[in-house]
Amino acid sequence: MNNVDIQAFENLLERADRILIISHVRPDGDAVGSLLGLGLILEEMGKEVNLVLEDGVPKVFHHLPAYDRVYREAAGVYDLVIVVDCSDIDRIGDVLDEYGEPDLNIDHHPTNTQFAGLNLVREDAVATVEIIYDLAVALSLPLNQEIAEALLTGLLTDSLGFRTSNTSPKALRIAADLQELGADLPHLYRKAMIEKSLEAVKYWGLGLSKIKLEDRLVWTSLSLEDRKNAHYPGRDDADLINLLASIKETDISLVFVEQKNGTVKVSWRARPGFDVSKTALEFGGGGHKPAAGAEIKGNLERVQEEVLKATRHALDGSK
Ligand code: 5GP
Ligand code: MN
Repeated sequence: MNNVDIQAFENLLERADRILIISHVRPDGDAVGSLLGLGLILEEMGKEVNLVLEDGVPKVFHHLPAYDRVYREAAGVYDLVIVVDCSDIDRIGDVLDEYGEPDLNIDHHPTNTQFAGLNLVREDAVATVEIIYDLAVALSLPLNQEIAEALLTGLLTDSLGFRTSNTSPKALRIAADLQELGADLPHLYRKAMIEKSLEAVKYWGLGLSKIKLEDRLVWTSLSLEDRKNAHYPGRDDADLINLLASIKETDISLVFVEQKNGTVKVSWRARPGFDVSKTALEFGGGGHKPAAGAEIKGNLERVQEEVLKATRHALDGSK
């Protein structure tokens, strides 16, 4: 990050007492870790901080510090509104409807639309928490064990446990620093990456029973009916996409998750050498070359048909 950006970030903080931090719907570990990590840093600095996620903190992250201080709605007046780990404004839900343009966006998605007053977007960062850690170090902001636990969780989940192709020596060094601050890496790894609820595994089972593979493309869907039958509480795929992506015979994998509001959440994963973010962008979503997503209007069958067609086209074009 260049000095101008670091200075601009410091200036924003200096003139703010009441700060709102938000992230995206269906929050993942980097969204939650960035929100909690930055929130705790700013609180240590004496700021009044409000943390808001429209969908709340998923149960898999209920071991993290301050998870129970995250609200679902913003309230009151803020001097500074920060959006973390979010590449476009639509993805935060309705949280900012009455607040206008956010002041600051900290993110690492190549598809970022630069929607805030100041956009600190670094595509080379493995996770948004990496950028937050760098800012904290550059400006000697407070760091402690709780902050380290939140930040390390973002690093772990976005790199799938340090196995995505963008896992860098720098990310590993930061992980070591966070461990030295007291974060228990094996414990955080197990909580965020390994442990699954019985409901989640049953939900997987329903998805897996419908799996299809055609010429290096694998996909499945999760309907509202599946969610009900498995008693799965979330509106995500319980990370089923990462299981599909481990299938040897595929280059691109997809999961379609039916939503209550008449949309379908699509997740793409691709092997190195393929770029699914472009196809996700075509459908109003975004992400990274190997991992992207979109929320698309329409019923499950139609969305599935259109997205598979476009993805097949992209896959054939890249051969
Ligand atoms: P996932 O499939 O796990 O939800 O997300 C994979 C990647 O795509 C993540 O980097 C995530 O931030 C991004 N992504 C997922 N859904 C959306 C979406 O609806 N819009 C945008 N812009 N990005 C998304
Ligand atoms: Mn992220």
